[in-house]
Amino acid sequence: MARIAFIGLGNMGLPMARNLLKAGHTLSGFDLVQATVAQLASEGARAATSARDAASSVDAVISMLPAGRQVEELYLGEEGLLAALPADCLVLECSTIAPSAARRVHRAAAAHGVAMLDAPVSGGTAGAAAGSLTFMIGGAAQTLERARPLFLAMGHHLFHAGADGAGQLAKLCNNLLLAVQMIGTAEAMALGTRCGLDASVLAEIMRQSSGGNWVLERYNPWPGVHANSPASHGYQPGFMAGLMAKDLGLAQETALQAGSAIPMGSLALNLYRLLLQQGLGGQDFSAVQKLFIDQA
Ligand code: NAD
Repeated sequence: MARIAFIGLGNMGLPMARNLLKAGHTLSGFDLVQATVAQLASEGARAATSARDAASSVDAVISMLPAGRQVEELYLGEEGLLAALPADCLVLECSTIAPSAARRVHRAAAAHGVAMLDAPVSGGTAGAAAGSLTFMIGGAAQTLERARPLFLAMGHHLFHAGADGAGQLAKLCNNLLLAVQMIGTAEAMALGTRCGLDASVLAEIMRQSSGGNWVLERYNPWPGVHANSPASHGYQPGFMAGLMAKDLGLAQETALQAGSAIPMGSLALNLYRLLLQQGLGGQDFSAVQKLFIDQA
């Protein structure tokens, strides 16, 4: 069993850390929010007072932070974690960040002799709680083999996407597609119900027909269609709209650098920006449905 520092105990990090505890690993946890550190401590982890404190005497560090800025602050520079970790320590960076930022952390890790993987996830908070996440992994294959037992405590599917940063590239492509599916589903649900169709009947017809997709299967944005979806609980996240806007921005930057056209992704980014301008960035990303519902 490994000694693990878990940094970032938010909507995803806390349930992921819980599954590592359940698998018998020894955990120290750190987050800027004290209450979440205390919560994990009450379940058997050590409450750390800083990231450096969490990472003292561990075999692996796992981070699940909002964006690249926090990840680079955590690992890089003289005060960063990489400078303090022993060479045999493993770093699994699971946040969704720019491939270029992930590569900067990879380069710094290599300079310190630390093995690192970029390993963003898919599966949402439900997958994090169930331990059924999908990991999209960039880095050396032998490092993935070392990390496999830790990933399998948190997820079911591990994909080696390629070299450093490839996990992040795969994740951005996936989230671009997810956003397009979410917006398309929201648009179709609004049209059908406005014309008098029952929301649940329409959702089931489309789910079973050629429009069927992951959103219709598990995450319908129309309130009341899926009892457990964020839409049926006041659009509580889940996956915040602000984070989806961040991911679409990263896809946009990546497409610009690659000279690749992403017209649907650009439209999705702009629709999420409108949602953020309405002050809804802290709601679940399925709240994009609100752009298509008449306000009373
Ligand atoms: P979140 O905002 O709920 O959690 C992030 C946590 O990091 C917060 O608790 C915050 O206090 C903490 N934090 C921020 N800066 C910190 C620092 N310097 N040191 C320690 N802790 C710090 O976000 P989330 O939904 O858990 O998402 C985390 C990452 O996973 C994001 O990159 C997101 O894009 C990605 N992701 C989220 C989902 C989802 O469904 N929520 C799914 C897949 C991927």
